Amino acid sequence: MSKPKFQTVTGMHDILPQDQAYYEKIQEVAKKVFAFYDFEKIDTPILEDANLFIKSVGENTDIVEKEMFTLKTKGKDSLVLRPEGTASIMRAYIEHGFLSLPQPVRLWYYGPFFRYEKPQAGRYRQFNQFGVEIIGETDPIVDVQTILVMYSVLNDLGLKGLMVKVNSIGDDNCRPLYRKALVKYLREKKTGLCSDCQKRMKVNPLRVLDCKNEKCQETLASAPQSVDYLCDDCKKHLKDVLEYLDELKVPYCLDSRLVRGLDYYSRTVFEIESTKAGENTGGVLAGGGRYDSLSKMLGGGETPACGAAAGVERIIAEMKENKARVSFSSVPEIFFAQIGPLAKKKSLPILEDLRKAGIKVGEAFGKDALKAQLGKASRLGSKVVLILGQREALNNMILVRNMQTAKQVEVKQEDIIKEVKNILKEK
Ligand code: AMP
Repeated sequence: MSKPKFQTVTGMHDILPQDQAYYEKIQEVAKKVFAFYDFEKIDTPILEDANLFIKSVGENTDIVEKEMFTLKTKGKDSLVLRPEGTASIMRAYIEHGFLSLPQPVRLWYYGPFFRYEKPQAGRYRQFNQFGVEIIGETDPIVDVQTILVMYSVLNDLGLKGLMVKVNSIGDDNCRPLYRKALVKYLREKKTGLCSDCQKRMKVNPLRVLDCKNEKCQETLASAPQSVDYLCDDCKKHLKDVLEYLDELKVPYCLDSRLVRGLDYYSRTVFEIESTKAGENTGGVLAGGGRYDSLSKMLGGGETPACGAAAGVERIIAEMKENKARVSFSSVPEIFFAQIGPLAKKKSLPILEDLRKAGIKVGEAFGKDALKAQLGKASRLGSKVVLILGQREALNNMILVRNMQTAKQVEVKQEDIIKEVKNILKEK
């Protein structure tokens, strides 16, 4: 078959009807878990000022350096298709004076995000994320609640083999010391690093730690670890996080290589991955951490916060891998067939009455032949067919045919909802 003239552009994909049930299920489960934990929903625009991300995510990160979809408006403003949610939400928190609300403010979001990445399995240029932010609280218990709500959504979706990886990258107090020790180590081992990491070493050395290149991984085997450089406050914070996690019995491990390379993170960072990840899922399903300095970076006050985001497409790939059950739209148990022009006209308002009564009804009104309509009814597996012919249309009656027994009764049109409800109750 020759290629169609127009196709989705690189890295973008259509979400076809057969996949919609997964998206709906994920939103339904996320909404339920977040509502229980008292999160309120927020939607921010898809377009934001480019500087919002440059100032927060950081100039020397992959997201800002390589992956932002930037556009110039006619007025020469530099806007971007949002690459992530946290910076926008902190902007909204500051802009709308949420500081005057009882703290912490708990928010959740769902929507599309855009990164100009090299498309590959589980990596798109437009993808969906849902996430949470708990803003205005330093207590380590909210770090663990952030982990817990994300873990619970994944778990409630039926995903197996989930593992939480946690680390602490310290704060503005102790991270410079760690950074210095790491840079010293990396300089000595420079030749064992890939060319990307040789550059990263100068601008964002912590990022070197999560390079997937095998040569880099070997070189990093005895690199200094951030947990050994934590100040007393950060050490205590991490200890509390781990103790709360122990209480919850969420499967977790301490991972000294986990840094999550964005500038706004401090102290706790975490990722949730599937240890049973198949080839198409890429493993990491969600990630997040504490970002106590972000508010100040964006011109707000001292507002500690913690948040996380999960990738919807990765979760769906994982659900498919796990053969997780999602219910697709229910089969209409009732089918409505019509014969003749008068019946066809009258069938629209009758169908509306059935819809308003909450009864799901299938139809093939575009077809006139009864055989073609009954063919669709049997393909759908409908148990009952309502038939409106010319005679019934004139007499305000309708035929109710039980497809299993082939028995047919005539009822008054005004009684049809009662009749159908009775039939559905009997089954
Ligand atoms: P991040 O904002 O990079 O921490 O990403 C959070 C989650 O979103 C990741 O764990 C992935 O599951 C998902 N994700 C990130 N980037 C992409 C992408 N380009 N395509 C699909 N999913 C992504």
